[in-house]
Amino acid sequence: MLTGKAALVTGASRGIGREIALELARNGVNVAVNYSGSKEKAENVAEEIRALGQESIVIQANVAEEESVKDMVKQTIQAFGSLDILVNNAGITRDNLLMRMKEADFDAVIQTNLKGVFLCTKAVTRQMMKQKAGRIINVASIVGVSGNPGQANYVAAKAGVIGLTKTAAKELAARNVLVNAVAPGFITTDMTDEMTDEQKQAMQSMIPLGKPGKPEDVARVVRFLASEDSNYMTGQTLHIDGGMVM
Ligand code: NAD
Repeated sequence: MLTGKAALVTGASRGIGREIALELARNGVNVAVNYSGSKEKAENVAEEIRALGQESIVIQANVAEEESVKDMVKQTIQAFGSLDILVNNAGITRDNLLMRMKEADFDAVIQTNLKGVFLCTKAVTRQMMKQKAGRIINVASIVGVSGNPGQANYVAAKAGVIGLTKTAAKELAARNVLVNAVAPGFITTDMTDEMTDEQKQAMQSMIPLGKPGKPEDVARVVRFLASEDSNYMTGQTLHIDGGMVM
């Protein structure tokens, strides 16, 4: 159903973004792999996509900088001739208790995790409206729904992403551009590797399904939101959290 579509996945050199890029490619999508850190890792993902028979390019861009975002979107459209799916996945954490959180750490997380989603969404809007078709899928987080001690910056950003998803969905619906979000719970990636064993155990004890999720669990839901199976859904946030927040 997705054969021949073109996608841009931000922060796709590792973790959940990498798995989303590969899952889309397995379903016939050509994928632009955005990265901000390791070019080598991004190239490896692109090679895996090409081995699956799809086209892929890698693009270095900081999602929090408007000019680099505009250029990234331009490069994607030039390479593939269209842009059908945007996955706003790039994200960072700078955890600390509210009273100890530095202003710079608050700002950094808001810039990447919230402003980044705004800039990338804005940058693809013209093309998708022209196509009268498009899917924007935002990777929020379950803590954006529930709150989480030690993550005031991250939670504020992710709650903002859920609100942004709803507003973009309402603004773009008339042009058949559907905007949805996923809210992963505790998914094992390099990001969660930074947590202490104590934090991991505390998190796991709150999961009714009794285990952390895998990047594939998120990627498959993103693929659904990119596909025609979700044609009549927009503005929604799907929880992928083993039942943590009901
Ligand atoms: P990760 O750290 O492995 O991957 C994040 C990616 O984003 C990295 O490749 C990083 O280079 C990229 N990135 C960071 N800042 C960027 C910027 N300014 N511009 C472009 N790219 C940038 O983490 P992950 O666990 O794979 O997280 C992916 C997304 O899923 C994030 O938005 C995260 O908040 C969200 N999420 C993760 C979990 C989890 O448990 N792992 C849970 C809920 C939500």
